[in-house]
Amino acid sequence: MSGMDTRLVEKVLAGDAKAASRLMRDIDDDAPDTSIHLKHLYPHTGHAHIVGLTGAPGAGKSTLVDGLIQLLRRQGKSVGVLAIDPTSPYSGGAILGDRIRMQRHANDSGVFIKSIATRGHMGGLSRSAFGIAAVLDAMGKDVLLIETVGAGQDEVDITCLAHTTVVVVTAGMGDGIQAVKSGMLETADIFALNKADLEGSEAARNDIKMMLSMRSQDRQRNWDPPVVETVALHGQGMDHLLQQVQNHWRCLKAGGLKDYRQQRVHIELMIHFRRLLLERSLSILNPGQRWQSMVDRVLDHDIDPYSAAAQLVEKVLKK
Ligand code: GDP
Repeated sequence: MSGMDTRLVEKVLAGDAKAASRLMRDIDDDAPDTSIHLKHLYPHTGHAHIVGLTGAPGAGKSTLVDGLIQLLRRQGKSVGVLAIDPTSPYSGGAILGDRIRMQRHANDSGVFIKSIATRGHMGGLSRSAFGIAAVLDAMGKDVLLIETVGAGQDEVDITCLAHTTVVVVTAGMGDGIQAVKSGMLETADIFALNKADLEGSEAARNDIKMMLSMRSQDRQRNWDPPVVETVALHGQGMDHLLQQVQNHWRCLKAGGLKDYRQQRVHIELMIHFRRLLLERSLSILNPGQRWQSMVDRVLDHDIDPYSAAAQLVEKVLKK
Protein backbone atom coordinates (compact mmCIF):
# COMPACT_ATOMS: atom_id res chain seq x y z
CA MET A 1 0.00 0.00 0.00
CA SER A 2 3.02 2.24 0.16
CA GLY A 3 3.31 4.29 -3.00
CA MET A 4 5.22 6.79 -0.93
CA ASP A 5 8.09 8.49 -2.71
CA THR A 6 10.21 9.91 0.12
CA ARG A 7 12.41 11.80 -2.27
CA LEU A 8 9.45 13.58 -3.79
CA VAL A 9 8.35 14.80 -0.36
CA GLU A 10 11.89 15.87 0.52
CA LYS A 11 12.25 17.74 -2.74
CA VAL A 12 8.98 19.59 -2.23
CA LEU A 13 10.08 20.54 1.28
CA ALA A 14 13.32 21.88 -0.20
CA GLY A 15 11.23 24.04 -2.54
CA ASP A 16 11.96 22.05 -5.71
CA ALA A 17 9.61 23.44 -8.38
CA LYS A 18 9.68 20.35 -10.61
CA ALA A 19 8.76 18.00 -7.78
CA ALA A 20 6.04 20.39 -6.63
CA SER A 21 4.61 20.59 -10.16
CA ARG A 22 4.48 16.83 -10.37
CA LEU A 23 2.71 16.48 -7.06
CA MET A 24 0.25 19.26 -7.91
CA ARG A 25 -0.57 17.58 -11.20
CA ASP A 26 -1.20 14.33 -9.36
CA ILE A 27 -3.42 16.12 -6.85
CA ASP A 28 -5.38 17.73 -9.64
CA ASP A 29 -5.75 14.37 -11.44
CA ASP A 30 -6.64 12.68 -8.16
CA ALA A 31 -3.90 10.15 -8.85
CA PRO A 32 -3.44 7.27 -6.41
CA ASP A 33 -1.00 7.81 -3.54
CA THR A 34 -1.26 11.60 -3.54
CA SER A 35 -2.89 11.58 -0.12
CA ILE A 36 0.12 9.66 1.25
CA HIS A 37 2.40 12.47 0.10
CA LEU A 38 0.05 15.11 1.45
CA LYS A 39 -0.03 13.34 4.80
CA HIS A 40 3.73 13.67 5.03
CA LEU A 41 3.71 17.30 3.94
CA TYR A 42 0.99 18.31 6.37
CA PRO A 43 3.24 18.73 9.45
CA HIS A 44 5.30 21.21 7.43
CA THR A 45 2.38 23.47 6.56
CA GLY A 46 0.90 26.40 8.46
CA HIS A 47 3.58 28.96 7.68
CA ALA A 48 2.09 30.81 4.69
CA HIS A 49 -0.33 33.70 4.73
CA ILE A 50 -3.10 32.58 2.38
CA VAL A 51 -4.80 35.40 0.52
CA GLY A 52 -7.87 34.73 -1.64
CA LEU A 53 -8.85 37.12 -4.41
CA THR A 54 -12.32 36.62 -5.75
CA GLY A 55 -14.57 38.53 -8.12
CA ALA A 56 -16.34 38.50 -11.46
CA PRO A 57 -14.43 37.64 -14.63
CA GLY A 58 -12.75 40.73 -15.99
CA ALA A 59 -12.75 42.58 -12.64
CA GLY A 60 -8.96 42.64 -12.74
CA LYS A 61 -7.97 39.80 -10.40
CA SER A 62 -5.03 38.60 -12.48
CA THR A 63 -3.75 42.13 -12.93
CA LEU A 64 -4.00 42.67 -9.17
CA VAL A 65 -2.26 39.36 -8.44
CA ASP A 66 0.50 40.30 -10.82
CA GLY A 67 0.95 43.65 -9.05
CA LEU A 68 0.90 42.03 -5.60
CA ILE A 69 3.56 39.51 -6.66
CA GLN A 70 5.81 42.37 -7.64
CA LEU A 71 5.36 44.23 -4.34
CA LEU A 72 5.76 41.07 -2.25
CA ARG A 73 8.98 40.20 -4.07
CA ARG A 74 10.27 43.67 -3.26
CA GLN A 75 9.61 42.90 0.40
CA GLY A 76 11.73 39.79 -0.05
CA LYS A 77 8.77 37.44 0.34
CA SER A 78 8.36 34.29 -1.73
CA VAL A 79 4.99 33.85 -3.41
CA GLY A 80 2.83 30.93 -4.52
CA VAL A 81 -0.06 31.60 -6.87
CA LEU A 82 -3.02 29.33 -7.50
CA ALA A 83 -5.31 30.54 -10.27
CA ILE A 84 -8.56 28.61 -10.42
CA ASP A 85 -10.15 29.08 -13.82
CA PRO A 86 -13.65 28.18 -14.79
CA THR A 87 -13.58 25.76 -17.70
CA SER A 88 -16.23 27.53 -19.69
CA PRO A 89 -15.12 27.79 -23.33
CA TYR A 90 -15.64 31.54 -23.05
CA SER A 91 -12.90 31.84 -20.47
CA GLY A 92 -10.22 30.34 -22.69
CA GLY A 93 -8.87 33.83 -23.26
CA ALA A 94 -8.75 34.59 -19.55
CA ILE A 95 -6.62 31.54 -18.85
CA LEU A 96 -4.24 32.54 -21.57
CA GLY A 97 -4.28 36.09 -20.18
CA ASP A 98 -3.10 34.85 -16.78
CA ARG A 99 -0.20 33.07 -18.26
CA ILE A 100 0.95 35.93 -20.44
CA ARG A 101 0.68 38.55 -17.74
CA MET A 102 2.40 36.54 -15.08
CA GLN A 103 4.97 35.16 -17.50
CA ARG A 104 7.42 37.84 -16.44
CA HIS A 105 7.70 36.11 -13.06
CA ALA A 106 8.36 32.71 -14.64
CA ASN A 107 12.12 32.87 -14.17
CA ASP A 108 11.91 34.10 -10.61
CA SER A 109 12.56 31.12 -8.32
CA GLY A 110 10.75 32.97 -5.53
CA VAL A 111 7.47 32.73 -7.43
CA PHE A 112 5.49 29.59 -8.23
CA ILE A 113 2.36 29.85 -10.35
CA LYS A 114 -0.16 27.06 -10.79
CA SER A 115 -3.40 27.22 -12.77
CA ILE A 116 -6.17 24.67 -12.35
CA ALA A 117 -9.59 24.37 -13.92
CA THR A 118 -12.74 23.96 -11.88
CA ARG A 119 -14.16 21.29 -14.21
CA GLY A 120 -17.49 22.20 -12.72
CA HIS A 121 -16.72 19.70 -10.01
CA MET A 122 -17.29 21.11 -6.58
CA GLY A 123 -15.61 18.44 -4.46
CA GLY A 124 -12.74 18.12 -6.91
CA LEU A 125 -12.00 21.80 -6.83
CA SER A 126 -12.05 21.90 -3.05
CA ARG A 127 -9.84 18.89 -2.73
CA SER A 128 -7.25 20.04 -5.21
CA ALA A 129 -7.27 23.64 -3.98
CA PHE A 130 -6.63 22.55 -0.39
CA GLY A 131 -3.98 20.07 -1.53
CA ILE A 132 -2.16 22.46 -3.85
CA ALA A 133 -2.21 25.20 -1.22
CA ALA A 134 -0.66 22.70 1.19
CA VAL A 135 2.12 21.94 -1.29
CA LEU A 136 2.88 25.65 -1.82
CA ASP A 137 2.87 26.15 1.93
CA ALA A 138 5.18 23.17 2.53
CA MET A 139 7.51 24.49 -0.18
CA GLY A 140 8.05 27.42 2.14
CA LYS A 141 6.23 30.12 0.19
CA ASP A 142 5.57 33.09 2.48
CA VAL A 143 2.39 34.27 0.81
CA LEU A 144 -0.14 32.33 -1.27
CA LEU A 145 -2.39 34.24 -3.64
CA ILE A 146 -5.42 32.22 -4.66
CA GLU A 147 -7.47 33.67 -7.47
CA THR A 148 -11.03 32.48 -8.13
CA VAL A 149 -14.03 33.65 -10.08
CA GLY A 150 -16.62 34.66 -7.55
CA ALA A 151 -19.64 32.86 -8.91
CA GLY A 152 -21.63 30.05 -7.45
CA GLN A 153 -20.58 28.07 -4.46
CA ASP A 154 -16.90 27.51 -5.10
CA GLU A 155 -15.96 30.81 -3.57
CA VAL A 156 -17.35 29.78 -0.22
CA ASP A 157 -14.63 27.18 0.01
CA ILE A 158 -12.02 29.67 -1.06
CA THR A 159 -12.88 32.00 1.77
CA CYS A 160 -12.40 29.05 4.11
CA LEU A 161 -9.07 28.24 2.57
CA ALA A 162 -7.82 31.82 2.71
CA HIS A 163 -6.87 33.71 5.86
CA THR A 164 -7.62 36.99 4.12
CA THR A 165 -10.28 37.32 1.44
CA VAL A 166 -10.12 40.21 -0.99
CA VAL A 167 -13.31 40.73 -2.97
CA VAL A 168 -12.55 42.50 -6.23
CA VAL A 169 -15.30 44.72 -7.57
CA THR A 170 -15.32 47.35 -10.27
CA ALA A 171 -17.07 50.62 -10.72
CA GLY A 172 -20.24 50.92 -12.67
CA MET A 173 -20.85 47.22 -13.09
CA GLY A 174 -23.29 46.79 -10.26
CA ASP A 175 -20.78 44.50 -8.61
CA GLY A 176 -21.57 45.89 -5.22
CA ILE A 177 -25.06 44.48 -5.50
CA GLN A 178 -23.71 41.16 -6.76
CA ALA A 179 -21.43 40.93 -3.78
CA VAL A 180 -24.39 41.02 -1.43
CA LYS A 181 -26.30 38.46 -3.43
CA SER A 182 -23.53 35.92 -3.39
CA GLY A 183 -22.89 36.43 0.29
CA MET A 184 -19.48 37.90 -0.32
CA LEU A 185 -20.25 40.92 1.78
CA GLU A 186 -20.21 38.66 4.82
CA THR A 187 -16.96 36.99 3.92
CA ALA A 188 -14.97 39.90 2.45
CA ASP A 189 -12.13 41.08 4.64
CA ILE A 190 -11.09 43.72 2.14
CA PHE A 191 -12.78 45.20 -0.91
CA ALA A 192 -10.54 46.09 -3.82
CA LEU A 193 -12.48 48.59 -5.89
CA ASN A 194 -10.52 48.16 -9.09
CA LYS A 195 -10.65 50.19 -12.31
CA ALA A 196 -10.93 53.30 -10.16
CA ASP A 197 -9.88 55.19 -13.29
CA LEU A 198 -13.30 54.51 -14.79
CA GLU A 199 -16.39 56.53 -14.14
CA GLY A 200 -18.68 55.53 -11.31
CA SER A 201 -15.96 54.57 -8.89
CA GLU A 202 -17.08 56.94 -6.18
CA ALA A 203 -20.70 55.79 -6.43
CA ALA A 204 -19.58 52.17 -6.20
CA ARG A 205 -17.50 52.99 -3.16
CA ASN A 206 -20.48 54.60 -1.47
CA ASP A 207 -22.65 51.60 -2.35
CA ILE A 208 -20.22 49.20 -0.75
CA LYS A 209 -19.77 51.38 2.31
CA MET A 210 -23.51 51.59 2.77
CA MET A 211 -23.94 47.83 2.41
CA LEU A 212 -21.10 47.24 4.84
CA SER A 213 -22.76 49.43 7.41
CA MET A 214 -25.84 47.20 7.22
CA ARG A 215 -24.08 43.87 7.39
CA SER A 216 -24.08 41.73 10.47
CA GLN A 217 -21.02 42.03 12.61
CA ASP A 218 -20.65 38.35 13.47
CA ARG A 219 -17.34 37.80 11.83
CA GLN A 220 -14.16 39.27 13.22
CA ARG A 221 -15.54 42.14 15.25
CA ASN A 222 -12.10 43.60 15.55
CA TRP A 223 -11.83 44.16 11.81
CA ASP A 224 -13.75 46.68 9.74
CA PRO A 225 -13.39 45.76 6.04
CA PRO A 226 -11.73 48.62 4.19
CA VAL A 227 -12.54 49.58 0.61
CA VAL A 228 -9.29 50.13 -1.29
CA GLU A 229 -9.43 51.83 -4.66
CA THR A 230 -6.99 50.46 -7.20
CA VAL A 231 -6.02 50.95 -10.81
CA ALA A 232 -4.28 47.61 -11.14
CA LEU A 233 -3.46 48.27 -14.76
CA HIS A 234 -1.19 51.15 -13.74
CA GLY A 235 -0.13 49.86 -10.34
CA GLN A 236 -2.06 52.56 -8.47
CA GLY A 237 -3.35 51.81 -4.98
CA MET A 238 -1.46 48.52 -4.90
CA ASP A 239 0.76 49.52 -1.97
CA HIS A 240 -2.31 50.43 0.01
CA LEU A 241 -4.01 47.15 -0.89
CA LEU A 242 -1.02 45.09 0.21
CA GLN A 243 -0.78 47.14 3.39
CA GLN A 244 -4.39 46.31 4.23
CA VAL A 245 -3.85 42.63 3.40
CA GLN A 246 -0.92 42.56 5.78
CA ASN A 247 -2.79 44.57 8.42
CA HIS A 248 -5.55 42.00 8.30
CA TRP A 249 -3.06 39.16 8.76
CA ARG A 250 -1.54 40.90 11.77
CA CYS A 251 -5.00 41.49 13.17
CA LEU A 252 -5.92 37.83 12.71
CA LYS A 253 -2.75 36.68 14.38
CA ALA A 254 -3.08 39.14 17.25
CA GLY A 255 -6.61 37.92 17.92
CA GLY A 256 -5.42 34.35 17.82
CA LEU A 257 -6.23 32.24 14.79
CA LYS A 258 -8.16 29.64 16.72
CA ASP A 259 -11.69 30.42 15.50
CA TYR A 260 -10.56 30.77 11.95
CA ARG A 261 -8.55 27.57 12.02
CA GLN A 262 -11.35 25.65 13.62
CA GLN A 263 -13.74 26.65 10.86
CA ARG A 264 -11.22 25.79 8.21
CA VAL A 265 -10.34 22.40 9.64
CA HIS A 266 -14.04 21.64 10.03
CA ILE A 267 -14.65 22.28 6.34
CA GLU A 268 -11.56 20.51 5.10
CA LEU A 269 -12.35 17.49 7.23
CA MET A 270 -15.92 17.50 5.96
CA ILE A 271 -14.71 17.52 2.34
CA HIS A 272 -12.47 14.49 2.86
CA PHE A 273 -15.02 12.74 5.06
CA ARG A 274 -17.78 13.15 2.50
CA ARG A 275 -15.61 11.86 -0.30
CA LEU A 276 -14.33 8.83 1.59
CA LEU A 277 -17.77 8.01 2.90
CA LEU A 278 -19.22 8.10 -0.59
CA GLU A 279 -16.38 6.01 -2.03
CA ARG A 280 -16.68 3.37 0.67
CA SER A 281 -20.47 3.32 0.49
CA LEU A 282 -20.51 2.85 -3.26
CA SER A 283 -17.94 0.08 -2.97
CA ILE A 284 -20.38 -1.70 -0.66
CA LEU A 285 -23.45 -1.08 -2.83
CA ASN A 286 -22.01 -1.56 -6.29
CA PRO A 287 -20.95 -5.22 -6.30
CA GLY A 288 -24.50 -6.41 -5.60
CA GLN A 289 -25.90 -4.07 -8.24
CA ARG A 290 -27.93 -2.55 -5.41
CA TRP A 291 -27.48 0.96 -6.70
CA GLN A 292 -28.52 0.04 -10.22
CA SER A 293 -31.52 -1.95 -9.09
CA MET A 294 -32.67 1.01 -6.99
CA VAL A 295 -32.34 3.25 -10.06
CA ASP A 296 -34.52 0.77 -11.97
CA ARG A 297 -37.11 0.68 -9.20
CA VAL A 298 -37.36 4.48 -9.07
CA LEU A 299 -37.69 4.48 -12.87
CA ASP A 300 -40.57 2.03 -12.60
CA HIS A 301 -42.17 4.17 -9.89
CA ASP A 302 -41.92 1.17 -7.64
CA ILE A 303 -40.31 3.40 -4.99
CA ASP A 304 -39.75 7.16 -4.58
CA PRO A 305 -36.15 8.47 -4.69
CA TYR A 306 -36.28 9.68 -1.06
CA SER A 307 -37.13 6.26 0.33
CA ALA A 308 -34.70 4.67 -2.12
CA ALA A 309 -31.81 6.80 -0.84
CA ALA A 310 -32.81 6.09 2.77
CA GLN A 311 -32.85 2.33 2.12
CA LEU A 312 -29.43 2.46 0.49
CA VAL A 313 -28.00 4.32 3.47
CA GLU A 314 -29.53 1.74 5.84
CA LYS A 315 -27.90 -0.98 3.79
CA VAL A 316 -24.47 0.66 4.08
CA LEU A 317 -24.79 1.32 7.82
CA LYS A 318 -25.86 -2.25 8.55
CA LYS A 319 -22.89 -3.61 6.69
P1 GDP B 1 -9.76 38.92 -14.23
O1 GDP B 1 -10.59 38.18 -15.22
O2 GDP B 1 -10.56 39.34 -13.03
O3 GDP B 1 -8.49 38.21 -13.86
O4 GDP B 1 -9.35 40.30 -14.92
P2 GDP B 1 -8.00 40.71 -15.66
O5 GDP B 1 -6.94 40.98 -14.67
O6 GDP B 1 -7.73 39.72 -16.74
O7 GDP B 1 -8.44 42.11 -16.28
C1 GDP B 1 -9.49 42.23 -17.21
C2 GDP B 1 -9.25 43.43 -18.09
O8 GDP B 1 -9.34 44.63 -17.33
C3 GDP B 1 -7.88 43.44 -18.73
O9 GDP B 1 -8.00 43.90 -20.07
C4 GDP B 1 -7.09 44.40 -17.89
O10 GDP B 1 -6.06 45.03 -18.61
C5 GDP B 1 -8.16 45.41 -17.50
N1 GDP B 1 -7.86 46.10 -16.23
C6 GDP B 1 -7.33 45.56 -15.11
N2 GDP B 1 -7.21 46.50 -14.16
C7 GDP B 1 -7.68 47.65 -14.68
C8 GDP B 1 -7.82 48.99 -14.17
O11 GDP B 1 -7.51 49.29 -13.03
N3 GDP B 1 -8.37 49.90 -15.01
C9 GDP B 1 -8.77 49.59 -16.27
N4 GDP B 1 -9.28 50.56 -17.01
N5 GDP B 1 -8.63 48.36 -16.79
C10 GDP B 1 -8.10 47.40 -16.01
